[in-house]
Amino acid sequence: QIRVRFAPSPTGPFHIGGARSALFNWLLARKYSNGKFVLRVEDTDRVRSSKESEENIKASLKWLGLDWDEGVDVGGEYGPYHQMERLELYKKYAQQLVDEGKAYYCYCTEEEIAAEREALMKENKMPIYQGHCRHLTADQIEKYKSEGRKPTIRFRTPENETVEFDDMVRGHMQFDSNGVGDFVIVKADGIPVYNFAVVIDDALMNITHVIRAEEHLSNTPRQVVLYDALGFTVPVFAHISLILGKDHSKMSKRHGATSVEQYKNLGYLPEALVNFLALLGWAPQDEKEIFSIDELIKAFSMDHVAKNPAVFDIDKLNWLNAQYMKKLSTKKITMMAVPHLLEKGYLNEPIAADEMAKLVRFTEIIRDHLSYGAQFLDFADLYFNDDIVVEDAESKQILTDETVPSVIGLFKEKLNGIADFDAEHIQPIFKQITKELKVGGKKVYMPVRISVTGQMHGPDLAGIIEVLGRERVFDRIEKVLP
Ligand code: GLU
Repeated sequence: QIRVRFAPSPTGPFHIGGARSALFNWLLARKYSNGKFVLRVEDTDRVRSSKESEENIKASLKWLGLDWDEGVDVGGEYGPYHQMERLELYKKYAQQLVDEGKAYYCYCTEEEIAAEREALMKENKMPIYQGHCRHLTADQIEKYKSEGRKPTIRFRTPENETVEFDDMVRGHMQFDSNGVGDFVIVKADGIPVYNFAVVIDDALMNITHVIRAEEHLSNTPRQVVLYDALGFTVPVFAHISLILGKDHSKMSKRHGATSVEQYKNLGYLPEALVNFLALLGWAPQDEKEIFSIDELIKAFSMDHVAKNPAVFDIDKLNWLNAQYMKKLSTKKITMMAVPHLLEKGYLNEPIAADEMAKLVRFTEIIRDHLSYGAQFLDFADLYFNDDIVVEDAESKQILTDETVPSVIGLFKEKLNGIADFDAEHIQPIFKQITKELKVGGKKVYMPVRISVTGQMHGPDLAGIIEVLGRERVFDRIEKVLP
């Protein structure tokens, strides 16, 4: 049975990288009929952890459709699933290691450790613990205790051994145990460190595969020596590559939105984001790029997860999202834009029914130009703002052409003449004008487009004229060409 887990530390917004790790685990679990996906919250960092962050992670997972079979909120056989509710377990196993001589109490203070590290680094030596407390006498212990020192528990890493494990992405990995050194497993306040708690939890929760970010690769040797010391079976590891920005530097805020919630708020669709995240590091065997969730579950395999870093290509995400948006009703797309229009003051609540209907019609005209919901804002002025300003030199130039007055004059006349003021009846007007005035199409389209929208390019002109209505169109033209 495949049992995988996602084990976030709730210390901030749910990052895209975390979502990708969760997704790979989830896909593996869903691939196997009996697979289980566990959500464990690693909340031992008392300063940085927050309930708010945990809620954000859970809400984001749900929004992405990554449901968990066991874990926080839903429970399960191997709970509790918050590490802070498992302290007794960590204590028990730490005690076991101490009793077996595999771990020991260390009375060194943080200052002493820091000084030792600094001295070692100065001599260009590896900054690992030199074993001061490895063999304390009863007297020394008494003395430290009387000084009020609170001990940590330190793991006695076996010396001169090769620590090995197989990684599904990186292959066979080997580390020299002397490079690991004795490390703290329980802090002086009784809280376990990540490397210790994660081993106890993964082992007791019967996790078979640990798929996580590459940044944890250097932690894995410590975890492997702990598995051995505790007599637990080592799970299969897979360390998935970093996510880089398009400039190949580590993905950060500079590259734009980094949290799942930000993408949600910008009007990206969960199916598109999941599809995109799956392709960050995993490559299907064929050229296919658009995958429904069921297709992903079928096609996904850890064998085709790449070692080299994945590049977060926002253009690709936009393209994918646009493909998924094609399937939405225009009304739905309008509703995605509404919060942004309200926020920017283009709209006020309550929105009247006829105003909504017009907005939907406008959305119909521009929807092919949208990659995500908030992109509606790029077109908001086109619809809401009648104070047209013609800014660029080329547009201004076009409006000075000698044919413009007669083109615009005839255009107004014809616009007045149609009974049904809709795109279908507006569209033929342009052709008629070219014929009647014997001017090229561009000489008709351009001055009308520029004076109605302020721009040389944009969505379907007849459609825009229809939604604006006769009055606003005349008003706009009047302002640009008085
Ligand atoms: N809590 C760790 C993190 O969020 C989990 C790492 C792991 O998957 O082992 O980075």
